[in-house]
Amino acid sequence: MVNYKDLGLVNTREMFKKAVAGGYAIPAFNFNTMEQMQAIVQAAVETKSPVIMQVSKGARNYANATILRYMAEGAVAYAKELGCEHPEIVLHLDHGDSFELCKDCIDMGFSSVMYDGSSLPYEENIKISRQVVEYAHKYDVTVECELGVLAGVEDEVASEVSHYTKPEEVIDFATRTGCDSLAISIGTSHGAYKFKPEQCTRDPKTGKLVPPPLAFDVLAEIEQKLPGFPIVLHGSSSVPQDEVDTINKYGGNLPDAVGIPEEQLRKASKSAVCKINIDSDSRLAMTAAVRKYLAEHPDHFDPRQYLKPARENMKKMYIHKIVDVLGSDGKLAQC
Ligand SMILES: [Zn+2]
Repeated sequence: MVNYKDLGLVNTREMFKKAVAGGYAIPAFNFNTMEQMQAIVQAAVETKSPVIMQVSKGARNYANATILRYMAEGAVAYAKELGCEHPEIVLHLDHGDSFELCKDCIDMGFSSVMYDGSSLPYEENIKISRQVVEYAHKYDVTVECELGVLAGVEDEVASEVSHYTKPEEVIDFATRTGCDSLAISIGTSHGAYKFKPEQCTRDPKTGKLVPPPLAFDVLAEIEQKLPGFPIVLHGSSSVPQDEVDTINKYGGNLPDAVGIPEEQLRKASKSAVCKINIDSDSRLAMTAAVRKYLAEHPDHFDPRQYLKPARENMKKMYIHKIVDVLGSDGKLAQC
């Protein structure tokens, strides 16, 4: 049993309380490579921002759970080396799909876990969420649960009202599960193709897709039911068109990739939304830089040569999100 406190990590409790009160959101960046970890830590230290480093089940399969745990421990040490004596770094499990997986992560040093029972019947979701919360709270680990279904890349239907979180359920759900934060569905979606072209309009000038707006009325109703309760948005990459254009220019093929406009995320950050998940944007930033570098240097084959600009490009994106979208810069209690 490893306790996250021994690794220098923190849970989300204080962080979220301050974010809700201060009208900003904490960035939750997914990671599974060393370059992503370095870029996240550099961005957080330079902007003096708290940060959530999160790991999905797929990342655990790709990189190995033990290695990711040591990378998070390394992230804390690295932040100190970069001059931040008191970094606030959370190691979070993204989309835990069973009690056992959540327990495994808690036992190996995660400071926060998500249990996602959103695809289960309501009572079943509550039952397992409650079980995870009871175990996690014994070790002062915070738990995010989910109510309402987010559309994903593979889903048949996206953004229908029936998929949104039902505001009338949130009090019952939060009370009975005892969760520390709640992921809701108000029209965000996973992946780089968040909406089908037929769900969007087209900008007449650029021909680019304009996605449907988030359901801020649903968010407002949820806030009214649970005043001050930390709300989480998944699937909140913006899919920057310059990165998509770079990828397509240098041999990629991502037609009509579309994300959540940053103005909408900025607006959400000022509400009870205190954690915003960003994964696809980091993948796009990395791929765009690698494609460009390799296309311009066909004779290079040292991975350090193309991963260095990839890391730089991700760092630039993370800093932009922290400063211009989420507003979490300068929010470390001490650095
Ligand atoms: Zn998610």
